Amino acid sequence: MSETVAVIGAGLVGSLMTLGLAHRGYNVTLIDMRPDPRKTSNKSEKNLRSINLAVSDRGIRALEFVDKEMSERVLKDIIPMHGRMIHTLDGKQESQIYGLFGEHINSIDRGKLNEHLLDEIDLFNENSENSNKIQCIFNHKVAGLSFNTSFAKIKLINGDDKDNDNEIEKNFDFIIGADGSYSNIRYQIQKYIRMNYQQEYIDKCYLELYIPPGENGSFLIDPNHLHIWPRKEFMLIALANEDGSFTSTFFGPWKLTETLNKRELIEPFFNDNFPDAVKLIGMDNIVRVFKENPKGALMQVTCNKYNYSDKAIIIGDASHSMVPFYGQGMNCGFEDVRVLLQLLDKSTTREVAFDSYTESRHEDLKAILKLAIDNYNEMSTKVISSAYLFRKTLDSLLGKLLPKYWIPLYTMVSFRGDIPYSECIRREKRQQTILKIVETSLIGMCAIAGWWKYRKST
Ligand SMILES: Cc1cc2nc3c(=O)[nH]c(=O)nc-3n(C[C@H](O)[C@H](O)[C@H](O)COP(=O)(O)OP(=O)(O)OC[C@H]3O[C@@H](n4cnc5c(N)ncnc54)[C@H](O)[C@@H]3O)c2cc1C
Repeated sequence: MSETVAVIGAGLVGSLMTLGLAHRGYNVTLIDMRPDPRKTSNKSEKNLRSINLAVSDRGIRALEFVDKEMSERVLKDIIPMHGRMIHTLDGKQESQIYGLFGEHINSIDRGKLNEHLLDEIDLFNENSENSNKIQCIFNHKVAGLSFNTSFAKIKLINGDDKDNDNEIEKNFDFIIGADGSYSNIRYQIQKYIRMNYQQEYIDKCYLELYIPPGENGSFLIDPNHLHIWPRKEFMLIALANEDGSFTSTFFGPWKLTETLNKRELIEPFFNDNFPDAVKLIGMDNIVRVFKENPKGALMQVTCNKYNYSDKAIIIGDASHSMVPFYGQGMNCGFEDVRVLLQLLDKSTTREVAFDSYTESRHEDLKAILKLAIDNYNEMSTKVISSAYLFRKTLDSLLGKLLPKYWIPLYTMVSFRGDIPYSECIRREKRQQTILKIVETSLIGMCAIAGWWKYRKST
């Protein structure tokens, strides 16, 4: 008989993991504390903030690894973004292309992607060969977890049962926790293993704004760029939606953002710092969002190990919540799915697969968390510095001239899912050392040429 597995969390990562396991013949039960997002119009219940995400090579590879045709279906609405569009204070727009050879990242609506993945689960079940291998239980929260040598037992509470007096217990051969940053599964397995764990809030929050479509659904700014208004301590970004609108996000320190609570303060702040964005979003909308909408916190979670023997393992944000500045949270979570499935495919036992996952994945997860936090500085500040732009030009030139030996960091992270995150950092360190030498030599040569020219003219 097939093994039974419970995947906790029907978000992006849990839904993909469910499909991957079902394709391998497991009987999967997918459990989420929220209602099925396709059957509710209540936004807070959906857990689908309107944000759109950047999906790049690692995410796409993992989707294709699970099922190539499914991947094409769920990614059909993506909008390619070939580079950053920098909006300077004086209203100019400057394009900085991401890929050396036309590669691009893609904007996708998070909510729609989640719903498409759940549709794929229904489609999988409808296939007569699969005879409902996947069972979905929505509106049920996992409140407890215990193990014995043969199974993992979970306690479920029905979301409609306000008194929690109707607990249901279910046994599975093993469970996978994909229950997000505040993971209860992570907390539960900490009781069984010596898990190192760290959670750190950064001093930035975010607020979502909305740029409506122009006439007849046209885009008011170029849809094929990720728009950035870099202002050092704070910044605004915008990603296109298929209907001609953009989802824009303001990132800023808590103190500053919380003081922007009255029209008299919000108006001059936006007029001074984002005059062109005000024209796109509308001042009334900006004021309403700053006064009424909740601000999102940003935090990093790291832990190690990720599994309890062959009984439980955590993936996605549950094991590595990161700040969104490299656009890799979901991509990395999808990569977790691919890596874990590959290990399950090739290992002699599940315990070997889970232990190898913990051992091999940790360095990469540490690496992407570091890259994500460091990238705030790049997006908000460096992109307008001429020293950075000069170095980036050299970096790209070397990447074009020596593609086998030289790969810019952004390319490795976003377009080369075959290079592990930790290897990206190692290679980038070597490249930066060489780049510094090239840069110093170039500056030296220019200085000598200038001095020579001066000598000749005197
Ligand atoms: C502003 C912002 C921008 C971002 N931009 C990008 C981007 O451009 N690219 C990118 O790759 N990533 C991005 N991310 C990160 C990305 O959104 C996350 O990494 C991704 O959604 C994580 O998916 P997940 O399935 O692991 O967790 P989640 O999406 O959080 O899903 C967890 C699920 O578990 C359920 N759950 C929780 N607890 C329980 C329980 N006890 N019992 C049952 N169910 C439970 C929840 O209801 C939820 O449905 C961004 C994040 C933010 C905040």
